[in-house]
Amino acid sequence: MAANQEASSALTLTCLLTALLLPTCRTSAEELKWDENGYVLYCPCMGRFGNQADHFLGSLAFAKMLNRTLAVPPWIVYRHHTPPYTNVHVPYSEFFRLEALSAYHRVISLETFMEKLAPKYWPVGQRNAYCFETAAQRSADKKSCPMKDGNPFGPFWDYVGVEFDKSVLFGGISFGTYHQSHWMRKFPASEHPVLAMPGAPAQFPVIEEHVGLQRYVVWSENMAKEGDEHISNLLLRPYVGIHLRIGIDWQNACKMLKSGDAGPHFMASPQCVGYNRQTALPLTMTMCLPDLAEILRAVKLWVKKTSARSVYIATDSESHSRDIENLFKGKVKVVHRKPDLAQTDLYILGQADHFIGNCVSSFSAFVKRERDVHSRPSSFFGMDKPGKIRREEL
Ligand code: GDP
Ligand code: MN
Repeated sequence: MAANQEASSALTLTCLLTALLLPTCRTSAEELKWDENGYVLYCPCMGRFGNQADHFLGSLAFAKMLNRTLAVPPWIVYRHHTPPYTNVHVPYSEFFRLEALSAYHRVISLETFMEKLAPKYWPVGQRNAYCFETAAQRSADKKSCPMKDGNPFGPFWDYVGVEFDKSVLFGGISFGTYHQSHWMRKFPASEHPVLAMPGAPAQFPVIEEHVGLQRYVVWSENMAKEGDEHISNLLLRPYVGIHLRIGIDWQNACKMLKSGDAGPHFMASPQCVGYNRQTALPLTMTMCLPDLAEILRAVKLWVKKTSARSVYIATDSESHSRDIENLFKGKVKVVHRKPDLAQTDLYILGQADHFIGNCVSSFSAFVKRERDVHSRPSSFFGMDKPGKIRREEL
């Protein structure tokens, strides 16, 4: 990537020099070539960041499977309780490096696709929507893809500046590799250059095969810089980072486990119980919603094991920072701050010397995957050794 950057600054320099000699200077963006193999476009319309990230990995793999360029969508951030009280669409590159994805597959940001390529190659009047027949069933005429129905669908495609002209339906097909040739035959790029879909062409949670694609999701320079500053200003290494997913929405979600017939796979839980349904470990209530006793137990254990000098608490609600401070009688620095961006928490958790996450949360899963890429250790509340459960919980 450093090489990439150097190349692009060299390009800017050449451009500057050329600009002195020529009246116009072609930037690299203007030289964008249309990919004859086609494109995949989708709305990350399900869930908040963690869900969108899981879907992103699967979509990236789907685009590669079809040998189409992925038009990388912005992240949808829901700001209904803080200004601007609507959805904010954050370009991928604000959080992560678009160039880093290229090591895996061809990508372009959806914004650049719309600005530079769509006017000529995907013109108004030829903008097809593609969706499952079952999704179209929900529309008034039962034949239209629900591309812009409701939130976040409408605001997303409005942000992108797209109205759809026609719907193309499909059925009896999945996004997995099993149907690769089926997709290729049904939608050759020559006739269907742009596959635009109402949702991600991927599963939630991310399938095991695609977990490793996290390695191509690399923090942007700005995010890394800001995160590193927080770490050096607030924390003392070694530090333990914890994710408390304990807010009211989560309490309600975890209630589904109480009945006991939910099984081990619930939201992001395959990350800790295992992906194989037959061999998956049990998912306990404590793993979904750790109580204060479990939070203190796990923090104490890992602070001791890693000789941590500080603890970073990321939370969706309460921080329990007083209780955690008291646990160490003030000898360990306990830090909690409400960041403007949830991604700042993700970054700081990713860099911790040890991470304790929530097994069921896809927000935690993002951190866990990133740490695995860099061989950094993680555990979960209710599960000190992922893949192995504490006996007394069974
Ligand atoms: P999941 O619901 O836990 O699987 O993860 P999602 O990302 O889909 O939704 C949870 C959302 O709640 C996140 O995207 C954040 O916006 C917010 N959230 C949850 N935990 C934290 C946290 O520790 N810190 C911050 N800043 N936000 C959080
Ligand atoms: Mn969620």
